[in-house]
Amino acid sequence: MKKIFAIILAVVMLVSTSGVVLAAESNPEFRVSTEEAEPGDSVELTVSMVNNPGIAAFLLNVNYDSNVLEWTGITKGSLPETYNLEVNTPAQWYNYTTDFTGDAVIFSLQFKVKANAPAGLSEVSVSYDKPGNVVNNAYKKLPFECVAGGVNVKGTAPEPHTHKWNDGVVTKQPTCTEKGIKTFTCTDCGETKTEDIPATGHNWNDGVVTKKPTCTEKGIKTFTCTNCGETKTEDIKATGHNWGEWVTVKEPTTEEEGLKERVCLNDPTHKETEKIDKLPPHTHKWNDGVVTKEPTCTEKGIKTFTCTICGETKTEDIPATGHTWGEWKVVEEATEEKEGKKVRVCKNDPEHTEEEVIPKVTPEVPPTGDSSNMGLWAVMMLAAAAALAFLGFKRRRV
Ligand SMILES: [Zn+2]
Ligand SMILES: [Zn+2]
Ligand SMILES: [Zn+2]
Ligand SMILES: [Zn+2]
Ligand SMILES: [Zn+2]
Repeated sequence: MKKIFAIILAVVMLVSTSGVVLAAESNPEFRVSTEEAEPGDSVELTVSMVNNPGIAAFLLNVNYDSNVLEWTGITKGSLPETYNLEVNTPAQWYNYTTDFTGDAVIFSLQFKVKANAPAGLSEVSVSYDKPGNVVNNAYKKLPFECVAGGVNVKGTAPEPHTHKWNDGVVTKQPTCTEKGIKTFTCTDCGETKTEDIPATGHNWNDGVVTKKPTCTEKGIKTFTCTNCGETKTEDIKATGHNWGEWVTVKEPTTEEEGLKERVCLNDPTHKETEKIDKLPPHTHKWNDGVVTKEPTCTEKGIKTFTCTICGETKTEDIPATGHTWGEWKVVEEATEEKEGKKVRVCKNDPEHTEEEVIPKVTPEVPPTGDSSNMGLWAVMMLAAAAALAFLGFKRRRV
């Protein structure tokens, strides 16, 4: 126990006095080199094996700060094939025929230092996700340690400045409903920023009537977006009836209601009727009247009166006028042997005539004192009276 402690102490003393790290020599390492570069420079780092115990395969991630460095390339090192190398992909090498021994550069990495890289070391390292990614020919996992290196960016960090943004480029076009993106770049430092471009919104056309409205039913107007073809609809109000004038179908009276009707000018099957109120009761106000039938000599006429308030009518008789006779005219003189005839004509109507018989003329008898003569005269007088009584008085009227 004492002996072992003495050996350890001796080793520690050796290390501290000579500066040689004896313990490190037995640890296998993957080491990334460190290089100096200025912003904008291209730089190459090597990845090497140290204290290699004999390796057959590795699958190594490359870790770096993409804000400072841009990984531009990866190239083979001095190992025998097979390499599988690609930027932004884990570096792969294998050779299962035999273990490769000895230290070597296993691959190189090329970077470009970004223009806005701050001064100082930007670390670059390799790593492996699981122990089985670094093995020898017997699939034994090898305990390699990963030692980081990097790019030591020279110079001071660029002065803080007010970015000089360019006019920007549309990196995503907006649509009717989704916003777009515009990207601006600082012309001094290359930094970028983005701004949203608002969605354009639909660009509706003037619309097309897809259903005509009627008097009582609403119609539909359809609008289409000229950009994306989307459609929307709007109601069109019913037009309402376009009524013509009221027409009286039945006049009202003081006793009965009247009726009026109107027809829609848009569609004549649309009709509307309405009652007309009874006329208010009133005392008829008759006008002066009009002769609607003239009276004649023998027939009565008619006069018609109209109420100036309600239009009702009433009639009154006009009496027959009676004939208006002219003078008698003798058309046949009477004699002692024969009767005569006289005629008169109506002044209103010459068709109306009247005639009358004129009696026979009586002969003159000379006076006598003789009784026998007296007896004869008396006989003559009696005969004349008898004739008159027999014939009578003849008269004709029309
Ligand atoms: Zn800038
Ligand atoms: Zn649209
Ligand atoms: Zn109508
Ligand atoms: Zn009246
Ligand atoms: Zn007459």
